[in-house]
Amino acid sequence: MTTHHPTALTSAGAAAIVGRLRTTFRAGHTKPLDWRRKQLGRLREFLVENGDAIAEALHADLRKSRAEVDTMEIGGTVREIDGLLEHLDGWLEPQHVPVPAHLPRGTSARTEYEPLGVTLVISAWNYPVNLLLVPVAGALAAGNAVVIKPAEQAAATSALLAELLPRYLDRDATAVVVGGAEETTLLLAERFDHIFYTGNGTVGRAVMAAATTHLTPVTLELGGKSPVFVDRDLDIDVVAERLVLTKFTNAGQTCVAPDYILTDPDTAAALEASLTGALLKRFGEDPKASDLYGRIVNERHFDRLTSFLGSGRTVTGGQTDRADRYIAPTVLADVTPEEPVMGEEIFGPVLPIVTVADLDEAIAFINDRDRPLALYAFTDSATTRRRLAAETSSGGLGFGWPMLQLAVSTLPFGGVGESGMGHYRGRFSVETFSHRKGILDVPLT
Ligand code: NAD
Repeated sequence: MTTHHPTALTSAGAAAIVGRLRTTFRAGHTKPLDWRRKQLGRLREFLVENGDAIAEALHADLRKSRAEVDTMEIGGTVREIDGLLEHLDGWLEPQHVPVPAHLPRGTSARTEYEPLGVTLVISAWNYPVNLLLVPVAGALAAGNAVVIKPAEQAAATSALLAELLPRYLDRDATAVVVGGAEETTLLLAERFDHIFYTGNGTVGRAVMAAATTHLTPVTLELGGKSPVFVDRDLDIDVVAERLVLTKFTNAGQTCVAPDYILTDPDTAAALEASLTGALLKRFGEDPKASDLYGRIVNERHFDRLTSFLGSGRTVTGGQTDRADRYIAPTVLADVTPEEPVMGEEIFGPVLPIVTVADLDEAIAFINDRDRPLALYAFTDSATTRRRLAAETSSGGLGFGWPMLQLAVSTLPFGGVGESGMGHYRGRFSVETFSHRKGILDVPLT
């Protein structure tokens, strides 16, 4: 694997990278299970051996705490790799299927996974290790060559990945290309056999448009406003604690973070006090001084987020410091759907509370909007859980603890509608990065 720096990448350079990987793929080097397992093992070694350097880069980019790096970036990716290593052989076994009785005696049918070829993984910046390497692990497990495009907004992490990954992975079958829109556009002009993009819907559309030229399948992992429905009569302190733990991780810059709360007026009032208390407990009197609290990735996102701070009534938070890219954990109450904070995905540490009369109104509110990446609910009622599952659509649905679905790689992860298409993690990654071939075998006599 070689590293290509932005200044170096030209259209001819992009063609050369993809051409080199295609030659490797065509020669069959990436197909044997041994090769795949070795690459996964090397990716795991990269993560385990470079924990300090990775943590340092993520601290520079997003002020991530070591605990968060260890659990979500390194730990989450290592667990994913371990799952692939443990189950890959079984998942790749041919699957025999029944054949109709009128076919000749002895006829058999089966499906087999075959690798797609040369793939492209384009990562977002908010979990710049996990969101890059989990799909890369899937592409390698499925026997593909892969062009790896880290997120340039997380500059220190991107530089580290570009420097170190080539020391671990097969250089003939993988390449790290660093850079932004310009470099990615050059790459997208090439023919890939699958493109896996994580980021926003606008760029997602550009990726999909580029893919049409070569009839390349795409996976788009996008975002959206993930609502949280909070039912009446719950232990509201538990709800508040879990909301704080999830919403304000990485300063709210998580694609599946709770975006806004939907609840009745009484519960909203109780939540105001509980959320304030839970924030104090987690980040102390001055969140700016807390090791557990992150920073906004850049000025553009900082300015976008501060424009939301005028919406509704500020319950707690609201303080900002542009030089430090700091926005205090903020809760807004009495927010109406027309206000700016409800107009787009927040992707930052601002949590609006919107009141609804009941579950019917909450379901209507959710269904009136784009299908979110995740929907969450806190409720004691089995009927409410059933109704939310049956009457709404979202990439995933979580009861009782937002974002914890990320710890379960036996669940597919992906969006629907505006929140994306396709899914990955575990065996779903193998499916995404493979072609499932149907094979019919009829005896000659
Ligand atoms: P972004 O789109 O700016 O960057 C993502 C990648 O796209 C980068 O690698 C970047 O180089 C590339 N890129 C940017 N402009 C491009 C262009 N014009 N052509 C080609 N490539 C281009 O990232 P963002 O929008 O700041 O990310 C935040 C969004 O991503 C949020 O909506 C969030 O919900 C979503 N997200 C989704 C997931 C998921 O797993 N579904 C995870 C993280 C983030």
